[in-house]
Amino acid sequence: MKVLIVEDDNKIITALTYCFQLVWPTIEIVATRWGEEGINLAESITPDVIILDLGLPDIDGLEVLKRLRLFSRIPVLVLTVNNDEASIVQALESGASDYVFKPFRQMELIARVKRLIVERMETEAGAPMFFRSITYDYSRRAITMNNSIITLSCIENEIFNKLIKEYPYVVNYSSLSKAVWGDYYDGSIDTLKVHIRHLRQKIEEEPGKPRIIMTKIGVGYYLVKP
Ligand code: CA
Repeated sequence: MKVLIVEDDNKIITALTYCFQLVWPTIEIVATRWGEEGINLAESITPDVIILDLGLPDIDGLEVLKRLRLFSRIPVLVLTVNNDEASIVQALESGASDYVFKPFRQMELIARVKRLIVERMETEAGAPMFFRSITYDYSRRAITMNNSIITLSCIENEIFNKLIKEYPYVVNYSSLSKAVWGDYYDGSIDTLKVHIRHLRQKIEEEPGKPRIIMTKIGVGYYLVKP
């Protein structure tokens, strides 16, 4: 279990780390005071949940949230000061999963984090899936084939997950984009095509002549068993 805390108040980080470790001895906590670094860490370490303070020294917490939501659906619990109801509304509209006002009760916050993690585990495939010669593990963002492990980016992972769940059906451009970007899908398919190309470069023997991720011209994509 991995928690990313993006918060510039060291006392809060220390207190939360202590509480989490009491409740969950095996938990891994990664913390940063910088929003930019928080976004990078979310991509590189794929935490199970993110605790995000809205008042950060470099960029606004809401900006961090919006940028996170372009590539990730990791649950985000937002922390903000007590009289700041407007930013809570904005945060929820920008994709926050839950919020807590400061000063907060630590055990309540931990209970909320636990609930987010359980909900996420229930909605996503936990165990690896087998697809003839491919083993796909959503939680590790990994495809194992021909005795090698291929690591996917967050977006490639969401794309592949959707295609494998819908196999053998064609997933149209908009369903696929919505599975990746949720409500933040802007209606364009160019970005999707770029990610499909990267994914093919990783898993197809000849990316120009795909044999796993097939195109249904003008409609979308579908998988065939290699
Ligand atoms: Ca702050």
